[in-house]
Amino acid sequence: MSQEGFTIDLRALARDERNFQATVPVAALARLASTLMQPVGNLSFEFQGERDDEGKLYVDLQIQGDLVLQCQRCLEALTWSCDVQNRLLLLGPGEQVPEDELENDDADAIELEARTNLLELIEDEVILALPIVPRHENCETPAGAGVDEDISPFAVLRNLRGKV
Ligand SMILES: [Zn+2]
Repeated sequence: MSQEGFTIDLRALARDERNFQATVPVAALARLASTLMQPVGNLSFEFQGERDDEGKLYVDLQIQGDLVLQCQRCLEALTWSCDVQNRLLLLGPGEQVPEDELENDDADAIELEARTNLLELIEDEVILALPIVPRHENCETPAGAGVDEDISPFAVLRNLRGKV
């Protein structure tokens, strides 16, 4: 499936309460792949649209798959099971967040253009979900190696997203 097939009108999907699911190779998600130790495996995702009684549009999003990160203690590969579940409130261009949603933590409001590249959206969600300092539960620091625990760039992105 080409990138084109993943660019859809997501608000129309929600309005019609349709479902979209697919599996993509991790290597096809360049920004995510560049943060991984090995860009191998697949991610499966599903968008389920929903239109509530007031006409508000939502999608429930699920993303699953195993990603190979680098343990920040022993520096060996670490398989992390991605399991993102998020509910998005879909806003049209320029549309404000409804007042009753401002204090609602159940859904993240997101403003969309007419067409949305689903791969970019799931890539953002997975990058936000990555552990900041991935580590095995039990492993040893290699002799002489320092552990760098500087703030990850993902923490910055996470803060930006939190203000939507
Ligand atoms: Zn380790």
